[in-house]
Amino acid sequence: MSSETELLVREIYLYRVGVFRKTAFEFNDDLVIADLLYPEVTRIGLKTAGFAGTRRRCLDQGCHCNTPMTPSRTLRRKGREMSHTMRAMVLDRPGTRLRLVHRAVPAPGAGQILIAVEACGVCRTDLHLVDGELPDPVLPMIPGHEIVGRVVALGAGVPGWQASQRVGVPWLGWTCGHCRFCRAGRENLCEQARFTGYQIPGGYAQYTVADARYCFALPEEPAPEHLAPLLCAGLIGYRALRMAGDAQRLGVYGFGAAAHLITQVARRQGREVFALTRPGDAESQAFARRLGAAWAGGSDETPPETLDAALIFAPAGALVPAALRHLDRGGCVVCAGIHMSDIPSFPYAWLWGERSLRSVANLTRRDGDEFFELVRQAPLQTEVHVFALEQANEALDQLRCGAFQGAAVLRMDAPVGRGRVSP
Ligand SMILES: [Zn+2]
Ligand SMILES: [Zn+2]
Repeated sequence: MSSETELLVREIYLYRVGVFRKTAFEFNDDLVIADLLYPEVTRIGLKTAGFAGTRRRCLDQGCHCNTPMTPSRTLRRKGREMSHTMRAMVLDRPGTRLRLVHRAVPAPGAGQILIAVEACGVCRTDLHLVDGELPDPVLPMIPGHEIVGRVVALGAGVPGWQASQRVGVPWLGWTCGHCRFCRAGRENLCEQARFTGYQIPGGYAQYTVADARYCFALPEEPAPEHLAPLLCAGLIGYRALRMAGDAQRLGVYGFGAAAHLITQVARRQGREVFALTRPGDAESQAFARRLGAAWAGGSDETPPETLDAALIFAPAGALVPAALRHLDRGGCVVCAGIHMSDIPSFPYAWLWGERSLRSVANLTRRDGDEFFELVRQAPLQTEVHVFALEQANEALDQLRCGAFQGAAVLRMDAPVGRGRVSP
């Protein structure tokens, strides 16, 4: 960054501070924030001429400026443009394409964090939302609940976060804290729970605000697109795996974003993984073997051993009786998706023998703490397909038809082009 641009970026940053000055704002490291703004500055092609030497009093180290900024007229215009608006992809109605909009950057309310989104995962749940398969969506809505970003500003009463710190926002966005489920440590079942990208605007945007209590502090490494899938595929997959108890022989149906992460966790725990994909999907089967599956085949095939548990990540109800048929006595079938097609009837004998069938709903913050601790100790290998924000529809289309292995992720600074695999 040239010193002129640097000054300019800092000035824009401080202008933003002016915008957010009513919030309890922390800026210990404005240069880090300036780095965050840099892509925006180059994107809108700000001219740096005329701004050198416009260093203002409040640029002094440690100054918590409360004075309104008085930038030059051009900067004020550009600054206003940048400070107040962001790009976002919005769902107006189920069954329609997401629409690119420019809307106001939200200001963080009490207890909230304003986050500059670096990357946001594209989850199958987003597809269910877009396809109208989830009840009572709040519309219009910005989808996306696998958010990785940087703290930009803090609302009142948010302890423990620093400006520019990396933060993750998951599906569970708010719970009541006093219903019988919340009190029993089962906040994932809270009757009034609200979810990111469904009832709370999500991460298909340059900025978002989130309730700080439900956010996770994330490490600096790896790159944001590799962290994003952990926020839902990883977390829900981890909860599903926990529901499998101490199952040694684990069947995994649907080898997408969640399965590719959770296979690695299961292998580390010394379990055997048997991957069951769409019949004939040789690519997914090879992918599963590469990640440590002992066997991979079609969901119409019989795995070489009886299963102690089966995790179903694909939204196909027909997989439930199929999985039950391969289950040993006392085994469990865990359905991990939020939506599934109807389950065909099956003979009671397939359930007999204390086999059980259950679903996994949402996540608790405890799941997140445990899972991210595990990831910190030994990072998971994530296979991601990167798209630009404007390509969200394309990412959803490709997820729908299973066009790639692993997870799709929107990166806010990615150039618009074809989706690419990030190593
Ligand atoms: Zn509750
Ligand atoms: Zn999800």
